[in-house]
Amino acid sequence: MNVTTPVSSPALDPAKFRDPDVTATGERRALVHLESLETLWFNTGTLCNLTCSNCYIESSPKNDRLVYISAAEVRTYLTEIAALQLPTREIAFTGGEPFMNPEIMDTLEAVLEGGFRCLLLTNAMRPMMKCTDRIADLQQRFGDRLTVRVSLDHYTETLHDMLRGERSWEKTLLGLRWLAETGVSINVAGRTCWGESEDSMRQGFGRLFEAQAISIDPQNPEQLVLFPEMDETQDVPEITESCWDILNVAPTAMMCATSRMVVKRKGASAPVVVPCTLLPYDPSFDFGTTLESAAEPVKLNHPHCAKFCVLGGGSCSVNAD
Ligand code: SF4
Ligand code: SF4
Repeated sequence: MNVTTPVSSPALDPAKFRDPDVTATGERRALVHLESLETLWFNTGTLCNLTCSNCYIESSPKNDRLVYISAAEVRTYLTEIAALQLPTREIAFTGGEPFMNPEIMDTLEAVLEGGFRCLLLTNAMRPMMKCTDRIADLQQRFGDRLTVRVSLDHYTETLHDMLRGERSWEKTLLGLRWLAETGVSINVAGRTCWGESEDSMRQGFGRLFEAQAISIDPQNPEQLVLFPEMDETQDVPEITESCWDILNVAPTAMMCATSRMVVKRKGASAPVVVPCTLLPYDPSFDFGTTLESAAEPVKLNHPHCAKFCVLGGGSCSVNAD
């Protein structure tokens, strides 16, 4: 293993990402149309039991910029999906730490009883372990329609704890093993900030899964998701309409072509819909309170659009928990 700490890049050019329609060089900015709403994400709230370095949503035990979404608020969107006859099959949850939301278990139950598949991102630590009875019950009733994705930043304790804090590894491994033993469908999300090749990362995680008797295929990018780093202060090119052909990247591969996220900002009277999990705070990306209002195309006017999605090859399936 040849591992380095994250390397810094030049600072973002302040002339970039200013005009939603036009780039700094005067070219038309790229757009992504909503093809079909396959996955609806909910941010459950930004409070978290950890304060990880490089957490893209800056979660911590004190960050409540996004407040807890309620089960009733989630149900309102499930009702809208039915009313609009949308093709949505998956409802996904990210935080913060979703298991800190006091209504998360009622929310998951409502989603699964509604016939949806459900994905939940977690650090699998103490907040999750307080809910083991109800998680086991959902597993019994709904089987692999519930998937839990656990964040393990690296396959070694030292590097995982370097970002997440001392002793977080052993607590997360305890939760991961409990999920596996209970038969919950699980996958794992790691980070690629280590200067290590993807091949080496997948091999390392494979050794860990084998040693822990965790049945995840490390070569399967859906079972072991490896996320590029996100740092909006580093310089990146802006994405223009002609970039799709030049880069041979399809706009339909962007997360915002097939999903949206609902967030509830502190002090707001109602939740609001945003394009994706990566842009929870910037009000210039708000679509309004309903899914109907969120069908507009997205203008790729943010460094994350370029670095993480178009150039970074992130699967856009979110990387916080
Ligand atoms: S960050 Fe990615 S998914 Fe989000 S709006 Fe930009 S391109 Fe779309
Ligand atoms: S990366 Fe996940 S566990 Fe860490 S602070 Fe952010 S939300 Fe919490």
